[in-house]
Amino acid sequence: MKIGFIGLGIMGKPMAKNLLKAGYDLTVNDLVKEAVDEVVAAGAKSAGKEEIGKTCDLVMTMVPDGPQVKEIVLGEKGLINYMRRGTTFIDMSSINPITSREIAAALAEKGVEMLDAPVSGGEPKAIDGTLSFMVGGRKEVFDRFKPVLSAMGSSVVLCGDVGAGNTTKLANQIIVALNIAACSEAFMLAKMAGVDPLLVFEAIRGGLAGSTVMEAKVPMMLEGNFKPGFKIDLHIKDLNNALECGHSVGAPLPLTSVVQDFLYNLRKDGRGQEMKYVLYRN
Ligand code: NAD
Repeated sequence: MKIGFIGLGIMGKPMAKNLLKAGYDLTVNDLVKEAVDEVVAAGAKSAGKEEIGKTCDLVMTMVPDGPQVKEIVLGEKGLINYMRRGTTFIDMSSINPITSREIAAALAEKGVEMLDAPVSGGEPKAIDGTLSFMVGGRKEVFDRFKPVLSAMGSSVVLCGDVGAGNTTKLANQIIVALNIAACSEAFMLAKMAGVDPLLVFEAIRGGLAGSTVMEAKVPMMLEGNFKPGFKIDLHIKDLNNALECGHSVGAPLPLTSVVQDFLYNLRKDGRGQEMKYVLYRN
């Protein structure tokens, strides 16, 4: 099977390398030449989108948001013009599920199947190949391509029809953002009230308040390490998609709106490229 992979950023680059390690025939594309060169050095071929569309059995994307996926697939020189009937497109970017359905409907008219398969886990898990995939699409297509996704992740779950993967991802992002905000607020209170935040962490991590977010982010937060794996700008994008999706189905998301305002304030202060637990100030 010939696989095309478009989008070699923080996540896409290690994911593509894991496909190469698993022995897949990979052709890659990105706007950034250095990223392409690095994956080519690991064994991939490089090509333009037209060639990828014409020659690959499966094309995968890992780009920032819906507008980029739309441009790559439905744009003037989009994959839709080149992909053959019977081939498959898998978008692993985190985008609005409404956009996923729109793209899937357009591809279906050309006989191209689609899965939306966003991930959770961040750069360390992308490198280890232990990402969690949340997938939407037909079960038959999911079963056929599950081994490809399993080469990059340790959990691959079909959540429903196309769009269900990104709906699940939005639920995930709401929980992560609100959990980080809660940790920031609680540890700031401890510090300002004169209790060592590290001792607070030790005391509560094993109780009901403990969480994967707390384990991963609070130690970095307390060190003042705001180096991004996942940037504030990207989380703003996810919460915007959540709010837009919420509005379209009438789901109230009051807490998401409040945290989104905090993130906008951080971006306004020039911190959009940092980690979102910058909500906690040292
Ligand atoms: P990134 O900005 O590091 O990488 C995106 C890549 O896409 C860049 O290399 C960019 O050059 C490329 N790109 C954009 N438009 C393109 C185009 N038209 N043609 C070719 N290449 C193009 O982003 P990332 O952190 O790798 O995130 C990718 C997706 O994964 C996002 O939707 C993000 O929300 C999601 N995600 C990220 C993380 C994380 O921790 N970084 C975790 C889970 C999910």
